[in-house]
Amino acid sequence: QDAKFKNEFDILEFAKGFYHYYLNHTKEGKVALDYLHNRGMSDETIAKFGIGLAPSYSDALVKTLANNRYSLDVAMKLGLLNEHNGQYYDRFKSRIMFPIFDKIGHVVGFSGRVFLEGDTHLGKYVNSPESPIFQKGKLIYHLNDAKLAIRRHNRVLLFEGFLDVISAVEAGFVESVATMGTALTEDHSRELRRLTDQIILCFDGDKAGLAAANKAIPILMAQNFSVSVVEIPNKMDPDEFIKTHGKEAFSKLIDQAIPAVDYQYRYIKRQFNLEFVSHREQFKRQIYHFAYTLQSHTLQELILKKLAYDISIGEQSILQEFNSSKSQVYKNANINNNKNENLQIHSRQV
Ligand code: ATP
Ligand code: MN
Ligand code: MN
Ligand code: MN
Repeated sequence: QDAKFKNEFDILEFAKGFYHYYLNHTKEGKVALDYLHNRGMSDETIAKFGIGLAPSYSDALVKTLANNRYSLDVAMKLGLLNEHNGQYYDRFKSRIMFPIFDKIGHVVGFSGRVFLEGDTHLGKYVNSPESPIFQKGKLIYHLNDAKLAIRRHNRVLLFEGFLDVISAVEAGFVESVATMGTALTEDHSRELRRLTDQIILCFDGDKAGLAAANKAIPILMAQNFSVSVVEIPNKMDPDEFIKTHGKEAFSKLIDQAIPAVDYQYRYIKRQFNLEFVSHREQFKRQIYHFAYTLQSHTLQELILKKLAYDISIGEQSILQEFNSSKSQVYKNANINNNKNENLQIHSRQV
């Protein structure tokens, strides 16, 4: 890493220590600790992940930084402080602080979670602002500590939330990582692909989680990941599932992860009521569209046969119709000079 950042990392590391001390040795800290313990988090885990607490008053970190001769200007640029009328104030107040580390273990920022009732007006989480060293589109939570396990197991488990990662690690799945609440990017995918070609998506079981998985799959498949998806029942997230049903049950879910292509098929199918003829027609079109994007002809044919079965049409007529509409799309793609994204996907693969 650049030498010019040395000072920045020192300040962030110091802030981490300050928040952690405050969590473990104060009256306010006791309330936050109770919250974490009630969630099932052990002191060992709190220490291992460097979790802390930002005090409720607005000059706690400012004063401590000043007393220790750290540059407040730099702390401000790192998003630890706010400025108002020439005065510096703490940016994070009354939040449980999760340090975020880069892939070589430097603290690069924080995510702060509310834990007091009625304190949610600023959002459940507040993150460090974007900066050259805190880029959410590139950061992967827990990557530094997961690297070895990812290589050893030749797979990575990708979660939506860093609290899910913490639970999974406690349950023994060290090869767990998360994005910082943003959608998966090509940069994230490339970074993980350097370590393994197997990825298991363990997103929340709610609507948003299902949609996020569906969006992440094409990005990962484009980089030759073998992708599968864990479906968490009852709209739980992995943290809730592990806390409710235990690690063996979670391990079983992982073993039953669904291959990405089947997941995508089901994701599309779920949007239709196939009792209705008109839905069948729309469903068919969407599956054709999906099938165009598949690299493998075998997979294409298998998906189309599945479709034929689901809408009770003969396999041959589906395959024929698909193939003739495929050449239609190809022709149009050439005429339109690839203006349409869907057509582009197809024409690239022909
Ligand atoms: P908890 O169990 O404490 O509610 P979670 O991980 O289940 O946490 P989700 O609401 O599922 O939280 O969000 C998943 C991830 O999305 C979080 O880890 C966080 O990175 C990000 N996130 C959620 N809400 C916000 C927010 N208001 N601002 C910024 N990021 C957020
Ligand atoms: Mn969610
Ligand atoms: Mn969640
Ligand atoms: Mn949760």
